[in-house]
Amino acid sequence: MGDLGVAVVIEDDVDVRNLLDAVLQQAGFEVHSAGTGRDGVDVARQRQANVITLDVGLPDIDGFEVLRRIRQFSDAYVVMLTGRDEELDTITALQGGADDYIVKPFRPRELRARITAMLRRPRVAAGDDAPTPAESGPVGSAGPAGSRRGAVLQHNGLALDTETRTVALGGTPLGLTRSEFDLLHELLKGTGAVRTRADLVRVVRGEYYGEDTYISEADERAVEVHIGNLRRKLREDPQDPRWLVTVRGVGYRLAPKRAE
Ligand code: CA
Repeated sequence: MGDLGVAVVIEDDVDVRNLLDAVLQQAGFEVHSAGTGRDGVDVARQRQANVITLDVGLPDIDGFEVLRRIRQFSDAYVVMLTGRDEELDTITALQGGADDYIVKPFRPRELRARITAMLRRPRVAAGDDAPTPAESGPVGSAGPAGSRRGAVLQHNGLALDTETRTVALGGTPLGLTRSEFDLLHELLKGTGAVRTRADLVRVVRGEYYGEDTYISEADERAVEVHIGNLRRKLREDPQDPRWLVTVRGVGYRLAPKRAE
């Protein structure tokens, strides 16, 4: 296995496939690839992918359908690859559980940066006691008891465990994508201050999107879709949100703590 785990490339264009393969191998993944959607689903399942790059336009079933099938058995980090003319459709498709998307033609450096950002905040599946090497972070671990105690953020019945990267609502675990988890974490760890949509794009994308990086409307729209997914999963009451409050024209903030 590669140091970082398994990446699966689902892409019908041979040149793009070879490029993705090279970029991911160089980053430290064991890479497998597929040229059709159905093969891609099979390979992702057999190889237990940690990261998947998924082309939207495939010869058999499209990337959205592939995503739907993959999400039935995998919580891999999924990056959709899309043409400029498909960008809006793809943003909408983040509702299907993709973590991010990249518009073709993309810069290899950008893809690598996005994936590296994701790896700094790996997720351990619920019930997984022992992190795999790919999942253990750079943070030195104190004793298990000591480090775990401060790792759970609680807010209005929601508990977010930063160590296991799990979220539970009233004790029931919620299945969140990595991007959804990161956005929720960002808002929960704050003190209720407003986070702009641009701030939140940086949370999802990592340091490649520094202070001076241009953030497009599409980038911000993608964050809105992730927040919409979170609200659906949290069953937020739009009239009276318990966690995610929209600040019109700016971004989002955490709702005030309620009396128990
Ligand atoms: Ca294609």
